[in-house]
Amino acid sequence: MSFSNDPVSIVASAGSRPTASQSVSGALGAATAQRAARSTAEYRALDAAHHIHPFSDMGALNRVGSRVITRAEGVYLWDSDGHKIIDGMAGLWCVNVGYARKELAEVAYRQMLELPFYNTFFKTTHPPVIELSALLAEVTPPGFNHFFYCNSGSEGNDTVLRVVWQYWRVKGQASKKYVISRNNGYHGSTIAGATLGGMDYMHEQMPSKVEHIVHIDQPYWYGNGGDLSPEAFSRQCAQQLEAKILELGAENVAAFIGEPFQGAGGVIFPAATYWPEIERICRKYDILLVADEVIGGFGRTGEWFAHQYFDFKPDLITMAKGLTSGYVPMGAVGIQDHVAQAIVENGEFNHGLTYSGHPVAAAVAVANLRLLRDGGIVDRVKNDVGPYFQQSLRDALATSPIVGDISGAGLVAGIQLAQSKGDAHGVGRQRFANGGDVGTICRDFCFGSDLIMRATGDRMLLSPPLVVTRAEIDELVSKAARAIDLTAKKIGVQG
Ligand code: PMP
Repeated sequence: MSFSNDPVSIVASAGSRPTASQSVSGALGAATAQRAARSTAEYRALDAAHHIHPFSDMGALNRVGSRVITRAEGVYLWDSDGHKIIDGMAGLWCVNVGYARKELAEVAYRQMLELPFYNTFFKTTHPPVIELSALLAEVTPPGFNHFFYCNSGSEGNDTVLRVVWQYWRVKGQASKKYVISRNNGYHGSTIAGATLGGMDYMHEQMPSKVEHIVHIDQPYWYGNGGDLSPEAFSRQCAQQLEAKILELGAENVAAFIGEPFQGAGGVIFPAATYWPEIERICRKYDILLVADEVIGGFGRTGEWFAHQYFDFKPDLITMAKGLTSGYVPMGAVGIQDHVAQAIVENGEFNHGLTYSGHPVAAAVAVANLRLLRDGGIVDRVKNDVGPYFQQSLRDALATSPIVGDISGAGLVAGIQLAQSKGDAHGVGRQRFANGGDVGTICRDFCFGSDLIMRATGDRMLLSPPLVVTRAEIDELVSKAARAIDLTAKKIGVQG
């Protein structure tokens, strides 16, 4: 397919659906024209010269050059060479309502003209943040009526620590300082977020960490469950929380934080025995329970929040990504009434960010939440496209010799690549000796077939925009199955 970077032909090629670029093209035309005017080679050269990418080996990346994404619509991306790519990762788990939603672009544009910025520090507020807070109180579970805003999931988890520590201080139990998290959890990349996270490779580059954060094991049955059933193994992992609390002394433990399902760690879904046991232990020892919903929130599992899928009740929830569908940066922390009371009624809370409750981000979040709710997008994930996606994936990969297990719900899935599946219960299953290699091989095949599917070690991850249609799911699943098939052939495993 030939493709021009001229913005006029970009709009013309987008089909009949009105896109954001058409609606605001008058205002943005000059800037867009300048941005899109370079060749792929020019973009790559400038990118290599001046841009340091997150989580990247820049030397290696610059030798091959980055893929330059120039526009997107629905579940598709286009690169600067004109390739149309199906996005199986919703950007970075965030573009829940899909790309090029005119409603969101127009809201941002209008808000920028009306009130592009004002702070919320000095006895001041503004309509967008008020509307958003009231709407979040409606879409979150009962008891969540207070929200603190930031710009990202990482800052959300920094905020969680501040709220948790202040809560116990106000309650006269300042010794409750320890926060327990999990190995291979991901909670962000600020110093606090990365300390909370249990990613060894991040800890290696951090000689200093935030104090009073400790980890227990992740409920990763495929890798660590041995001959135990998933249910027994998950229960055992949860019971490590009790052991850790007793080791530290309950009077010293403030909170437990976990992603309801681990996202960046590989879309690892614990068995149904896990969260009820974690919740029981938190209540028994008077420990706050924090659900990091940065990936799981806003419809990903078919429920509004992933903790509702697992049926537990957290005291705090961290939100970002799907809050604005990634159109503008925003994070938030939802706080249960009994915790919020301690923060709201007890003098100054010494925490804030210039852009806490940014009016443009808040206005976009309101429009985005309305699309998710009033447009029936979350319901559709639960009752239609979610089950269809899960079933299609399992049908397509049932006979693959290198797929050991698939976990997921709604529109998120983790595909475990494995040397051997073991028996019907997975007993005798065997991972690849060098798991990261097989994931990288598979990801390269995806790249070559214009599919975005992420690899985390030996697990392949999918998390498409929630507006994906059945036909697009068919395309996504068949491309994923083909990439996995090519991987099996390349490493010499026969079906
Ligand atoms: N928590 C979880 C569960 C995440 O997946 C992420 C990011 N992937 C974060 C926190 C950090 O969010 P951000 O990158 O917006 O700081």
